Amino acid sequence: MSNNENFVNKKILAITVIIGLLSSSLVIYEFAWSPSHTPDMNSLLTRTTTTNYAIPQEGQRVVCIVFDDGWLTQYTNALPILDEYNFKATFAIITDNPDKRPAYMNWNQIVTLYKQSHDIGSHTTNHLNFAKIETASIEYQLSQSKQDLLKHGINATTFVYPEGEGAGNPDIEKLVQQHYTIARGINKEYLNMSQAFNQYALPSYTIRNSTTLETFKDYVNQADASNIVIIYYQQISDGTVFTSVTTENFATQMQYLYDNGFTVQPLKQLFTSVDS
Ligand SMILES: [Zn+2]
Repeated sequence: MSNNENFVNKKILAITVIIGLLSSSLVIYEFAWSPSHTPDMNSLLTRTTTTNYAIPQEGQRVVCIVFDDGWLTQYTNALPILDEYNFKATFAIITDNPDKRPAYMNWNQIVTLYKQSHDIGSHTTNHLNFAKIETASIEYQLSQSKQDLLKHGINATTFVYPEGEGAGNPDIEKLVQQHYTIARGINKEYLNMSQAFNQYALPSYTIRNSTTLETFKDYVNQADASNIVIIYYQQISDGTVFTSVTTENFATQMQYLYDNGFTVQPLKQLFTSVDS
């Protein structure tokens, strides 16, 4: 071995050692670095849960019915049909409307629903789109509507995002979490209760007059031992407004749920502890 070759070999050895040291320190660095990400994991875990929910139970096919906006027609047209089958639903109220705008339920009617074991949730004070307003306004919409409901003896734990905006945004969900237990958006999916899910961005299917009975059946028939189906309505009237459903179609849909043994429960029921 020439001096030159010997020098080259030593140089290779030195480089190998340096690389070795670098990579092992990289491993140590990574090891030290990963725990710093634990808080993010924790905050994600607090937004999701697989525990402490009451439904579905063995053999149940659960459908949750939500009425958005607090329209008067939900009380005059939908409630008598719900009562026929003893179905309890969730009503998401825009709290500035009652007693002020005749197209919406008044406080007496809302309190009556609450006393009949329906779930009364918040749908903000003014129905402002959370994607278009400042954090302070979002905070006001969340806390003031909660207070408005409390003033009438209603402890609202359910929230519904206006236009579904804000669901899936972790910053907004954190604000919602300070006041409510669950929140619903408008993502067209069923909810798989057998795995971790985001309780502040619950999915739901919108039902309108353009929704055929076949489509309605396709939605609700996804309900099984692990999947819950959430559907929501706006006006239950003559069906002329595109977001509305005729009283006749609504009656047919409820009859279908009843005849086929579906369990209809309010959203609030999702996080009622099995043990309590
Ligand atoms: Zn709405």
